[in-house]
Order: sequence, then C-alpha cells, then structure tokens
Amino acid sequence: MTDEHVLDAQAVQGQPGPAAVGSGGAPVVVTPSAAGVTAPEVVLEAVGLTKHFFVGRGPVRRGGTGMGGMRRSLKAVDDVSLELRRGRVTALVGESGSGKSTVARLLAQLYPRTGGDIRLHGDVVNVHGGKAFRAYCRRVQMTFQDPFASLNPVHTVRYHLTRALKIHGHRGSLEQALRDLLMRVQLTPPDRYIGKFPHELSGGQRQRVAIARALGAHPEVLLADEPVSMLDVSIRLGVLNLLRDLKERLQLAILYITHDIASARYFADETLVMYAGRMVEGGDSETVTQLPAHPYTRLLIDSAPDPDRLLPVGVGSGPETDAAGEPPSLIDPPSGCRFHPRCPLALERCKSLSPPRFDIGDRPGHWAACWLYEEPA
Ligand code: SF4
Repeated sequence: MTDEHVLDAQAVQGQPGPAAVGSGGAPVVVTPSAAGVTAPEVVLEAVGLTKHFFVGRGPVRRGGTGMGGMRRSLKAVDDVSLELRRGRVTALVGESGSGKSTVARLLAQLYPRTGGDIRLHGDVVNVHGGKAFRAYCRRVQMTFQDPFASLNPVHTVRYHLTRALKIHGHRGSLEQALRDLLMRVQLTPPDRYIGKFPHELSGGQRQRVAIARALGAHPEVLLADEPVSMLDVSIRLGVLNLLRDLKERLQLAILYITHDIASARYFADETLVMYAGRMVEGGDSETVTQLPAHPYTRLLIDSAPDPDRLLPVGVGSGPETDAAGEPPSLIDPPSGCRFHPRCPLALERCKSLSPPRFDIGDRPGHWAACWLYEEPA
C-alpha cells in the first residue's frame, strides 16, 4: 500500500472472505464467474456488515411493565456480506427500506458501522473523517439518487468538477482535465456544459455531471445509489449504458443500488437481493432473474412490469407469487426468517430460526437464505 492508502487500515492477511463466512456458517461461493473462469480481483468487500440506528426509547407503560423506556434500535442492516470486483457491476436489489442504501453509505464510510468489516484490497478500513477519509474517498466514490440535490444550485459545472479535481490532488492542467471528464461522461462538446448551472441541465445531464465529479477522484469503486430512479424512462438507458462503458474502460467495480430487478438483469453481472436488512439471494444476474430461488425474489420479479406476461401478477404463476403485505418494522423485526409473515411457503421453523445461505446447485455461486433449500440430512 502507498502512504495515502494506509487509512488506519489493519492488515488481515489470510482471513477468509465472505465466500467462506456466509451467515449461519454455510459454505457459500459468491463468485460471478462460470466454472473454470477466474473471477476478477476483489476490490472492496463487506463481511458481516451490521448497522443499527438508535431511535429513542419505547413508551413507558403504567406500572413499568413490558419494554417501556428501553432503548430501541432500528436494525437497518444485519450480517451483510458482499464483494465488489474490478470491472464488474454488482446490483443490490430490494424494495424501499430494505437497507440497500444504508449498505452503500456504510461502504462509503459515511456511517460508522455497528459490526462487521469493510475491506479494501483485503485490508480492514475504518475511517472517521480527516485525511484518512479523504484518502478513502479517492478510491471509493458514491453518487446519489437525486442529482439535483447533490449539486450546489448556485455553482456551475466548472466549479463542481474543478473543485473535485483540486480536492483529490489533480496535477496538471485543470482545464484539460475538466474537458476530459465531460467527454468521458458523454457531455459533448464540453463548452456547451461547462458554464451551466444545475437547473439549466436535464435530469440525465445532472446525473452525468455527478458521475463526472466522482470520476475526478480516479476511483476504483463507484457506489451508485439508485442512479436512474429519478430520471425519465427515456433517458435511463443512456445513463446505464454510460456506467457500463465506464466499467469496461476504467475497470471500475460498481455497486448498483436499485429497486428495479429488471434493470439489474440488463446492467449487472451479479445480483444480490436484500429484504428487511438481510441478504436473501445472490448469484449471477441472469440466474437470479431467470431462475429466482427465494420466494421474495420471485415476488419482486412478479411485481416488475413485464410486457411479455399476459396474465395479471399472481395469476397462474404458482403459489410463490401470492405473497402480500408490507415490509416489516425494522425496530421490531419478525423472528426467524424476516420474510415469514409474507411467505406462502413458510415452514414452522421459519418463525423461529433464521436461515443460513444454502447453495442452490443450479449454477455456480447461486445461493438463497431459505430453509426450502436445506439438503436433507
Ligand atoms: Fe419462506 Fe421459510 Fe424460505 Fe423464509 S425461510 S423465504 S419463510 S420458506
């Protein structure tokens, strides 16, 4: 590691990665590659990542009975493990409130974590602002869902990009670097955009400026939190194609946060599914979206608009699609499998025992945290 990459890091050579430490201890191989193909290098990984937010104390009941007055916490993320690899896109999919954006903020070191590790090239990283945080940001950048809110409305594109270049220690001509950034995100000719304010740009152009600003740091990892969900449908594809182009040309490791599992199939190499703060399924995107194993993933897919599906959602597509109801409260989440109150296939043990990850066995690296896939003893 170079000096700027020290980051209060503690070397953890020789420890197993998440492939060996799936929840419940089940052997899990979260590899994007088909058998026999070497997977690209892991750049950033989370191992057992946990985040609980303190949300005050419960109401005190008369007589002091029950849980009244006790500290309560919102269990936003529980025991999440993932790997981001060079030149690969990993989609993290789930409905609102599932914890996926919190995972991205934890990986960006914007929140302190309650438990687990974040490793950059195998080294545990735990930064709390200052020089170490800036050094980490140089390597791990994040873009946000609302590009308008993430750009200062009183400053031009020139200001946003040159500021990023200066902060991250760019040497050489700022003017040339500014133009290169705009070209890289396909805002051409650059002169047309350099002097514009955020309100003079379309949503897609603002998101491209936000991406250009992130690229100003020359990161290895880009955490893209719902990068297209606030854009018109007609321009979403252009931004996703841009991210794919950057992944290939710059060999970025990209985490793509989305609630749209259909776009994950199109855009991502691997897909991970989150429900109520926990990871429930993972594998290569084609397998997870075409052969979903977890009942919640099936629900997500059946809920996605599909012009090829002639029948209404839930009609004639099996009992798995009948899951209804709302996501649970994360202050007092269901015991056992957190999906069990909504799961039409729930077994008795699902109410009390949290399922570990089980290998599905249909494709390498495909797993689900569901008791239905437990091998008979
Ligand atoms: Fe349904 Fe049980 Fe599987 Fe959870 S573990 S998804 S409740 S079958």
